Amino acid sequence: MPFLALKLHPTLIRGVEDLGFTRPTPIQSEAIPHALQGRDLLACAETGSGKTAAFLLPILHQLIDRPRGTTRALVIAPTRELALQIVDDLKGLARHTGLEAAAVHGGVGMRPQEQAFRKGADVIVATPGRLLDHFQYGYAALSGVEYLVLDEADRMLDMGFLPDIRRVLAHIPKPKQTLFFSATMPAQIEALTREILTRPAKVALQSRAAPAEGVVHALYPVPASLKGQLLVELLKSGSMEQALVFTRTKHRADRLAKLLNRQGVTADRIHGNRSQPQRTKALAGFKAGDFRVLVATDIAARGIDVEALGHVVNFDVPAVPDDYIHRVGRTARAEATGEAFTLVTPEDEGDVKRIERAIGSKLPRKRLEGFGYDAAPDAPLEVPRGERIAAIRAQRAKGRARAAEKNNAAKKPGDGNARKGPRRRSFGGRGR
Ligand code: AMP
Repeated sequence: MPFLALKLHPTLIRGVEDLGFTRPTPIQSEAIPHALQGRDLLACAETGSGKTAAFLLPILHQLIDRPRGTTRALVIAPTRELALQIVDDLKGLARHTGLEAAAVHGGVGMRPQEQAFRKGADVIVATPGRLLDHFQYGYAALSGVEYLVLDEADRMLDMGFLPDIRRVLAHIPKPKQTLFFSATMPAQIEALTREILTRPAKVALQSRAAPAEGVVHALYPVPASLKGQLLVELLKSGSMEQALVFTRTKHRADRLAKLLNRQGVTADRIHGNRSQPQRTKALAGFKAGDFRVLVATDIAARGIDVEALGHVVNFDVPAVPDDYIHRVGRTARAEATGEAFTLVTPEDEGDVKRIERAIGSKLPRKRLEGFGYDAAPDAPLEVPRGERIAAIRAQRAKGRARAAEKNNAAKKPGDGNARKGPRRRSFGGRGR
């Protein structure tokens, strides 16, 4: 089906063409006609499916001929990166329409965002927390909102945002149309859809979440202590130009980026401990090809959309199958192809089984030819918490023992080894 068949406003078709989209993705051809009829929508769309344009195009179409200066559409997204990505996509699609959008998220000043509310940006794309911050002030009444989008609702649930979402809904007028997008449908999300959607059209409902189709998966079994070296070798072995690499924690992301840079692989990192300008800079640098690897944690990576990203590497196996699907969805976006490599230690086998069950197939295991699987281990990226605590305790116990020894020596000068210190000192003192 060509885009023209969707009967979108000609200025939007121009925007779509400028972006090089030749035909709608399946979610777009299914969702857009319902949304253009003004129906509520419940879409279960995998990441990378083209879902953003699936909700933006029908909303922009309905806004084109309306007077400007009032915020009529509110899009709620779980993370800053996703909010920024949606605004970016919107700017591309709406290029010839004059419609404006603003991102409202934490980590940056409130002032420019306040201006967007006051000016009545046509579309506001917001994360829940910062939106509620603005709601304390009169300028953020959003009384003209008619269209509401909840994007990646299951992720908002994971991040504990459902109460915030309910607060947002209580603040704004009842929308004329609500478009609800979620990769999976856990029970709490289904309950929310029943509360807020009116006879929604249901689109692409899948019995289970699945990663994008063009992804080729490979598991690389490796001892934990060699993961860094194996990643470096994989990067040097040629097939990977750029890779988005996921770690379990922010510390591991920092240390891995350092290790890669030390080994001559240019890398930056993106995670929740970095400031918004740092995150934006890292992402822009990666998109521009300034460095080869962007190391990320799950939450920070939501919404990262790098055109033609060929490789995703799970340096650490995600504990939740859903995260695997979201991570590998960063590659092979919108029907392109990509590879997803996962480094698997013996301790990860249980998590891998759960992932295989969730995606309904066994993932192939590979060995990197020529890699020294019996090489000397890397320095650990982080000392496990238990070991760290044990080391601190041992250190303190040593200190206490030393203090007690000194004490005893001072009290009982006639006793064994302890005697030597004070005596020697006192002899020395006398001799001087
Ligand atoms: P999304 O699932 O919205 O995050 O989109 C994933 C990627 O697909 C983005 O890079 C979009 O720019 C791209 N995209 C969206 N719609 C199309 C389309 N109809 N044809 C080609 N690429 C598209």
